[in-house]
Amino acid sequence: MRVLVVSDIHANLAALETVLTVARGRYDTLWCLGDIVGYGPRPNECVSLVRELASVCVMGNHDWAALARPGIDVDDFNPHARQAVLWTRDNLTAESIAYLDQLPHRPIHPAASSNLLLTHASPREPVYEYILTPSIAMENFGVFSEAICLFGHTHKPVIYRWQLQDELDLEGYEESDDLAALDEGSTLRPVATVDSLQPPVGEWVHLHHASNQRLIINPGSVGQPRDNDARAAYAILDLETMAWRYDRVAYPIELTQNQMRAAQLPKRLIDRLSFGW
Ligand code: ZN
Repeated sequence: MRVLVVSDIHANLAALETVLTVARGRYDTLWCLGDIVGYGPRPNECVSLVRELASVCVMGNHDWAALARPGIDVDDFNPHARQAVLWTRDNLTAESIAYLDQLPHRPIHPAASSNLLLTHASPREPVYEYILTPSIAMENFGVFSEAICLFGHTHKPVIYRWQLQDELDLEGYEESDDLAALDEGSTLRPVATVDSLQPPVGEWVHLHHASNQRLIINPGSVGQPRDNDARAAYAILDLETMAWRYDRVAYPIELTQNQMRAAQLPKRLIDRLSFGW
């Protein structure tokens, strides 16, 4: 089974439709990692496509904020994001609200695999935390037990790889100890490291299932990329071979920007789509 993995659509219908078109026939189900709405001009259309196609979707911070429920404060958003949240609130239909309202606020397992975890922001803080560095990823590897966690929220495609490797335990040895003594008395101890990998565009990468390796993976953002590449980002996960193919596709950015102008959304949010930041 192949899964189309999308995140951070942000009501950018032109981007979502382009991704669905290029991926057509190449996936069996769709997983969405949250933030269907917020920033963009077509929240209801994006919600209804996700509702129709996704077997799994988690709650994003923008989805939650658009619902105007207790537990999330719109004042925590920057002024332009806040303005977009308020616009989204005014424009969501009852059907969209009903769908967004039932999205889970916690990390979930897709039915297809218990060794995969899906979250919007992080395993530790499912709606808010930004995993932007290997050290934040390292802290998060400690709070879940699955081999692989898929996340969104940062709008930056990445693979964080946790590895447990045996290293020589040199504690207690002075620099003057001779090598023979070191060989005889040295012990191996497991040391965990996390590094950050940039997945190649349009190539299958095998996600190894060794017990000494785990992964936290972001497919990038469909509707508002922030890695200086304006094209929509998405990924396809093959559950049989455990291979991941991250990809980018150009979409009609000006169409979304014109829709945003008509909706009087902030100029800064319109401009940033041209640059991917
Ligand atoms: Zn987002």
